[in-house]
Amino acid sequence: MTYEASSLAREVSPCQMGKSASLWGTVVAVQANYYSVRLNPIHEATASSDAAVASWIDSDAPILERPSHLLCTRRARLKKTGQQVMVGDRVEIQEPDWQGQRGAIASVASRSTKLDRPPVANASQILLMFALAEPNLDPLQLSWFLIKAESTGMQICLALNKRDLIDDSVQANWEKRLQQWGYEPLWLSVRTQSIPATLYQRLNTHITIVSGPSGVGKSSLINHLIPDSNLRVAAVSGKLGRGRHTTRHVELFQLPQGGYLADTPGFNQPEIDGTPETLATYFPEIRQRLQQQHCKFNNCLHQDEPGCVVRGDWERYAHYLQLLNTLTSQAPSQGQQHDAEVAMKYKVAESGQIQAEPKLSAKKYRRVSRRSQNKALQDLCQELVESADDLEALEGHSLDDLL
Ligand code: GDP
Ligand code: ZN
Repeated sequence: MTYEASSLAREVSPCQMGKSASLWGTVVAVQANYYSVRLNPIHEATASSDAAVASWIDSDAPILERPSHLLCTRRARLKKTGQQVMVGDRVEIQEPDWQGQRGAIASVASRSTKLDRPPVANASQILLMFALAEPNLDPLQLSWFLIKAESTGMQICLALNKRDLIDDSVQANWEKRLQQWGYEPLWLSVRTQSIPATLYQRLNTHITIVSGPSGVGKSSLINHLIPDSNLRVAAVSGKLGRGRHTTRHVELFQLPQGGYLADTPGFNQPEIDGTPETLATYFPEIRQRLQQQHCKFNNCLHQDEPGCVVRGDWERYAHYLQLLNTLTSQAPSQGQQHDAEVAMKYKVAESGQIQAEPKLSAKKYRRVSRRSQNKALQDLCQELVESADDLEALEGHSLDDLL
C-alpha cells in the first residue's frame, strides 16, 4: 500500500502530448468549496524526460515566480459527477492564475487508499503517538487506539514519546509487554530532541496520519519535523486557516525530506467500525496464532468454540472478548447490517467499558450522498456538509459539540 512521491511529479496523458501539459499537485487542505493544492515541485517536473512538460515550463509562468500552492475550486463537471475532492488527493489543475494564485481542479487521480473519518486520500500509514508519562500510558486506551488503527488496514508506526520522563526499567517493561501485543514501538523525546532515525525513514515519501490522545506531543513533533511553519498551507487565505481545530478539518504538512503528515483531530475520537468476523484481524496476537494453526471451525469467533487455537492466556484477549460482545450484541440482521454499522459507533467510557452509541446526523448526510443514485441530490448533500463545516469554522465550535 505504498507509493512513491516522485511518481506524483507530473502526469501527462498521451493525448496531451504536444499540446499544453497538465499541471498536478496534492490537496493539502479543504475548507468549504476551496482546496489548497501544493503543486508538484519543478525539479520533479524537470527530471521528467517528457517534452510536453518541459515546454510547459518554458512557456508558462517564470519558474521563480511560480507559487508553491494554489487556492482552487472544483470544476462544475466534477461537482455534477459527484466527484469528491479530499485532502491527499492528487489533482490536475487547469487555468492557473499565477498572479492571483488560483486555479480550478479538473480531475482527481485514482486513490490508493481512502479514509472516511477523517477524510484523507492516499494515506498509507498511521503514526500512533502516546506519551510514556504525563499523561500516564493507559494500556486500555493504547489498545483501543491500536485496534482502531488496525481497522483501517494501514501500516502502523507506534511512537512512544516523553522518554525523558521515565527510567530504563519502565521502558524495558513496556517493551516486553508491547512485544507480546505484537508491536515494536519507537522511543522518542521531542523535548530532548531524541528522535530515532528510523522515524524519519518511515515517514519519508508517505502520507502519514498522526493520531493519539491529546497532550502526548503530536503538535510538538510536527513542529519539530517541520520547523518552518510557512510550509503549512502557505498560500491559503484566512478562510482556510480558521477551521484547523474543528473535528472534521484535516490538513497535510509537508515534510522537508518528502512525504506529508496529516494532522487529524477527528481521528482522536476512537470509534471502531467492524463486524464480529473482522475483529480478530485487528489483533496481531490473533493473526500470529492463526498463521501457525487453525481453529476447528472456519467461522470460529474465538470465544468458547471447541478446538479454538486463539482462546488463551494472553493479555489483550479480554479486550477482544469485550469488544466482540459489544459487536455481537449490536449485530443486526443481514438486511440491516450496513445501516446499523454506519449508525452506531463504539467508544471506551471512562470506566473502561466499551459502549455503543448512535453516530451523529451529519454523517448520515454523507451516507445518503454516497448511496444515492441521484447525482443532483448527491451534490446537494455534499454542499450541506461543506456549509456545515464552514459554519463550524465560523463559530469556533465543532459540529460534534453542538449536536
Ligand atoms: P498534543 O496535544 O499531542 O499535540 O501535545 P503537545 O505537542 O501540545 O504537547 C503537550 C505537552 O507535552 C506540552 O507541554 C509539551 O511541551 C510536552 N511535551 C512534548 N513532547 C515532550 C517530551 O518529549 N517530553 C516532555 N517531558 N514533554 C513533552
Ligand atoms: Zn478460534
